Amino acid sequence: MTWLAGSINVRDVEQATAMAARAAEAGADLVEYRLDEAPATGAGLSSLSELAGRSPLPCIVTCRPAWEGGRFAGDEQSRAAVLAAACGGSVKPAYVDVELKAWREGGPVRDAMAPLLGRGSGGEVDADTDMADGAEGSDGPGLILSTHDFERRPADLLSRIEAMAAEPRCRVIKAAWTARSLRDNLEAFELISHRYKPTIALCMGEFGLPSRVLAKKFGGFLTFASVDGVEATAPGQPTLSEMTGLYRWSKQTASTKVYGVIGWPVGHSMSPAIHNAGFDATGFDGVYLPMPIPPEYEHFKATVGGWIAAAGLDFGGASVTIPHKENLLRYVAEHGGEIEPLSASIGAANTLTLEADGRVSARNTDYAAALDAVCRAMRIERAELSGKRVAVLGAGGAARAIVAGLAGYGATVVIYNRTHERAAALAAEFSERAGAAGSSGDGLGGKVVAARWEKLCDACCEVFINCTPLGMSPKVDATPMPAEVMARMRKGEGVGVGQVVFDTIYNPPRTKLLNEAEGAGATIVQGTEMFVLQAAAQFETWAQTPAPLETFRKVLYTHIGA
Ligand code: NAP
Repeated sequence: MTWLAGSINVRDVEQATAMAARAAEAGADLVEYRLDEAPATGAGLSSLSELAGRSPLPCIVTCRPAWEGGRFAGDEQSRAAVLAAACGGSVKPAYVDVELKAWREGGPVRDAMAPLLGRGSGGEVDADTDMADGAEGSDGPGLILSTHDFERRPADLLSRIEAMAAEPRCRVIKAAWTARSLRDNLEAFELISHRYKPTIALCMGEFGLPSRVLAKKFGGFLTFASVDGVEATAPGQPTLSEMTGLYRWSKQTASTKVYGVIGWPVGHSMSPAIHNAGFDATGFDGVYLPMPIPPEYEHFKATVGGWIAAAGLDFGGASVTIPHKENLLRYVAEHGGEIEPLSASIGAANTLTLEADGRVSARNTDYAAALDAVCRAMRIERAELSGKRVAVLGAGGAARAIVAGLAGYGATVVIYNRTHERAAALAAEFSERAGAAGSSGDGLGGKVVAARWEKLCDACCEVFINCTPLGMSPKVDATPMPAEVMARMRKGEGVGVGQVVFDTIYNPPRTKLLNEAEGAGATIVQGTEMFVLQAAAQFETWAQTPAPLETFRKVLYTHIGA
């Protein structure tokens, strides 16, 4: 069993006990009382002896000195007094955390703790038995020896681990360091997997989340999480409700498959909420994490390669977003994987999959989702897009994928863009490929032309697709569509003009463009649908089961507050 520990900064016993009750409610099965800022003198100090007895959960006591990255600013004598007080009640804490340095060098903290400790076992300790002993007070607290580096992975990490393992009184080894990249997590997993003793190996900072979330998969002794709404005790610590809700802690097993969203930055991504909810709804044994990777290809290659090769990680694939969509194609090409032809035409892919045969593949679910959203609205199959006239507004990344997809299915596409040169370049690229359809084999058969942005008012297309941010929150009063087009749609001038209007913007779900278009009699398609369908296509590729579309929609709407 891997414990989920709520970490609590103690101000006094009342506050700490109340916080521990909140931690228990939020799903923690143990608490760590951080005594760095607890009262260190007088009655306040003496009252710390009540902490373990009043705790609703078994507890660890820790008083981290400033020299090890904590907030305790007093001398070692005072620190020893704080820890001794917290271990001095009739009910003992389950564990006490002492820094390796303080233990090795000796001094007041070691002198005070050594006589109070419970069984000193050098071998593998069963966490359940261990915890019960401490919590019942039948024995003294077990010793956690710990080492931290808030800058980087310490060069002597392994020798520190060996020193902790060799210390006979050490029951649990703890090593925490600041990750410089996602690859650092892999070493944390290795340390846990090859443990000599129950081990906590955690990476701090924005790159360290996987080590915290996946501690259970690798059999770590525990992972820490902050109590919701309260300051974390270490950088990058998730909250208890993120661990139990978003990251599905209770469902995690040794064989849980790992997925993620690769981007830079990725903190804002809704994909972890959507895919984890999908795994939950379908009972799929997976977990989905944010995967921040700096923009350069070398970072992408090293991280993805490392994650794929990592023993026991079961990395199954990732959503890939800006700025890595081109890097994904390059990676898969270099590794002899399979690239979906239209992704190659678009020059960008958004889905990485580890196929059953161990090879990597890349596909683009953005264009597929956009096409399917349009086809559903028109009640046609993709093949029936052939010959349809579609206006695409914008010439950026989203437009590019949609133009390629439409051209691939034989539609006639007119690109309108504020900067005409970009529209012209995009049209030229895809017309050329359309002309070479037979030989390139990518199926591009449609006609693609560019038109000036000012000429949008004369457009006579059956489908309009907005791929600009005009109308996106917070500027919800904007719309890219000239009033003349709306008026013609309303009057029914021009057979089939503006039959379908699709806005790729998903926040708000109903843009001004869509409201006006609906008022003018068009069938409208919301950007939320494209978002949901592109996520669904990824989900189905990985989980091999139909995506729970209603769950996806619900999570998306909750996130955008609609
Ligand atoms: P992008 O690469 O930055 O392209 C933006 C495009 O919008 C460019 O063509 C740009 O024209 C044009 N534009 C920007 N501001 C404009 C303005 N004030 N007036 C007229 N044109 C303007 O962005 P992107 O990644 O393609 O994203 C575009 C839209 O697609 C966003 O609203 C995004 O939310 C949406 N999107 C939705 C989904 C989904 O799943 N629903 C997925 C991806 C994207 P210039 O060339 O003149 O700069």
